[in-house]
This record gives sequence, C-alpha cells and structure tokens, in this order.
Amino acid sequence: MKRMKKCEVCKAYTLDVSHCGKPTHSPHPPKFSIDDKYAAYRRMNFQNGN
Ligand SMILES: [Zn+2]
Repeated sequence: MKRMKKCEVCKAYTLDVSHCGKPTHSPHPPKFSIDDKYAAYRRMNFQNGN
C-alpha cells in the first residue's frame, strides 16, 4: 500500500516527499503507538466482558 502524503502549501495529495518546495507529510498521522493500540484493544475486550 502506498503512503499518501499531503502538501500543506497547495493541499494536494501526492506520493512525493516534497511538493511546492516544502516537505510533505502524512494527512493522517497515527495517534497511538503500537503499544497503545494493543492496550486500547485489551481495554475494549475488558469492557465487553471477554
Ligand atoms: Zn504543493
């Protein structure tokens, strides 16, 4: 799967690491680390009574 990047200058989505002379970045940066993700999954199971 290709990782889309977003240009903050012209708001265009691109696969390039730079656009408009500025570095692009992921439009959807991960909010949680892998450990947090699994921790959230464990908490969800706990709340479901599993
Ligand atoms: Zn651009």
